[in-house]
Parts: sequence; structure tokens; C-alpha cells
Amino acid sequence: LVAFVLYLFFLVMPLGQALHAYTQLQTGLGALQRMHDILDVPAEQDAGTAAVTSGPVAVAFDGVTFAYAGAAQPVVRDVSFAVAYGTRTALVGPSGAGKSTLLQLVERFYDVTDGTVRVAGVDVRDLPRQVLRAQLGYVEQEAPVLAGTLRDNLRLAAPAATDAQMLEVLDAVNLADVVDRAPEGLGAQVGEGGVLLSGGERQRLAIARTLLAAPPILLLDEPTSNLDARNEVALRQAIDTVAHNRTMIVVAHRLSTVVDADQIVVMEGGRVVATGRHADLLETSDLYRELATNQLLVA
Ligand code: ATP
Repeated sequence: LVAFVLYLFFLVMPLGQALHAYTQLQTGLGALQRMHDILDVPAEQDAGTAAVTSGPVAVAFDGVTFAYAGAAQPVVRDVSFAVAYGTRTALVGPSGAGKSTLLQLVERFYDVTDGTVRVAGVDVRDLPRQVLRAQLGYVEQEAPVLAGTLRDNLRLAAPAATDAQMLEVLDAVNLADVVDRAPEGLGAQVGEGGVLLSGGERQRLAIARTLLAAPPILLLDEPTSNLDARNEVALRQAIDTVAHNRTMIVVAHRLSTVVDADQIVVMEGGRVVATGRHADLLETSDLYRELATNQLLVA
């Protein structure tokens, strides 16, 4: 019946409209599937009742191995490292090394196959989901920007935020000019999926949104794409501002994000192959030296 109704629907619509409707349907279904993937977690995954502790370690990976469901090989293998509060850790490595997957294990989009991920001293599986989420701000590479105004997008993270607070975070991520150039200010439309903004501006809007929610720990997947010089500088400054006095794990594709990191974790084939600071790793890790020579932009 549904197919028949859809058939009739498409039959009576002009082709252009039908194609547009079809595209929207596909987009909608994609979003729905994603939401379903996130919401459709087994009940026991939410069974944690532990409270966060107040030790010095924000995030710890301990012997973490992970394979995607149905995959023959793990994409993360026996990974161990710790991230202290107030420090910046950069994850670097070739495409497919498992860097983004590590962030998703902290967020608990997936559960480890072996080992433990701890946030604020507690196994993430033992924390109620809302307690875990309150600890974390996650900015994906293609961070979603919704049709609507700048204000709408910022309010997603902090419904009670004032205009003054919004302008402050937009300034922190170098987006003040986006507000200035629009007569509507914070009421400026960003377009469907944020098309009226550049890719770099979209990511910085997502960072601003996360800043408003002020989570203790930031997980950032830096965009791989080549940004123009202006956006490049704006992103670096935004990350520096955001990282100041905060805990951050960043999947880094730019040398400028890495050189000042307190800890750099070099990954290859799912494993940690070296850890250290920039100057040390240049001496001790052939892979790091190679990545750094190429300015790190892989994938
Ligand atoms: P990049 O720098 O290209 O983003 P990465 O180091 O972040 O790479 P991941 O995105 O963590 O690497 O991917 C690690 C491996 O896991 C890759 O081989 C990738 O193809 C695979 N992978 C990623 N997501 C999924 C998924 N949802 N299902 C199955 N395999 C996946």
C-alpha cells in the first residue's frame, strides 16, 4: 500500500518536484537511521549507576581493543594512554589508523571489545549515559549544522544561553565577523545544512556550540579538508582558545594543532606506536617525523 501511494504521489508530481521530494526523503531517512542507531542501544548499556570521581585523570584507555560488528579484524588494538585534566592530547597517524574510532569509544557510540575506557576515573559502561554525556563535548569532522539561524544552532547545546553568551563563544572561535556581516546578527540564517557558511565556519560554529555547553572534556575531530589560509588560521586560534585550561583530545590533521600538545599519540594500524611531545617524537619516531614533514594532512 505504501509503495502504491508513493507511486501515485510521484505520478502526479512534475519530475523536478518528485526528484526534490525523493532527495529530501533520502536525507530524512538517513537522519532517521542515524537517530535510530544512537537510540537503539541495548537496555543494559544504560544500566550504569556509578558517579564520577575527582582524580587527576580525565580519560584513560587501558588495553583497549575494538572491532566493528561483523568485521574480521579489530581497528583498535591494545591501546593504553591517559589524559590528565587541563591538558591537550593530539592523536595523529595515517588514514584508517583508528583515531576517530577512539573518540567514539569515549563517547560510547560503541563499546570496547576488550579493555577499559575510563572517564573521570570510571569505566564508561558503569556511568549513566547522561552523566557521561555531561562530561563530554564531541565535535565531529562534519559537525551537523541545521537550517535556521545562528542562534537556533547555538541553542541546541544550551537552550538557556543569552545573546551575550552566544556572542562571546562566537568571538572565541573567530566567527564574530559572520554576525557582523549580517544585518540580522544572531538571527542570520545559515541555510539548509549550513550551506550559507563555509566548511571552516560550520566546524567553528559546532565548536562554539560545544563551548556553550561547557563540558569538562572536549573531543574534537579536526577537519581533514584543506582550508584556505584565513580559515586555517581561524581554526588554529579557535582550538587554542578552546583548549586553554581545558581537557582536549583532538584527532589532528594539522601540524599547528600538534606542536604545542602536551601529549601526542601516534597511531598506525590500530596500535599506539609512539607517545611523547613534538620535539621528542621528531627524534624517536620515524612515522611521526614522516607525518610532520608532510604537515600531517593525511586522508
Ligand atoms: P581518518 O584520519 O581517515 O579519519 P582514522 O585514523 O580516524 O582515519 P577511523 O575512522 O577510526 O580511522 O577508522 C579506522 C578503521 O575502521 C578504518 O579502516 C575504517 O574503514 C573502519 N571503520 C570506521 N568506521 C566504521 C564503521 N562504522 N563500520 C566499519 N568499519 C569502520
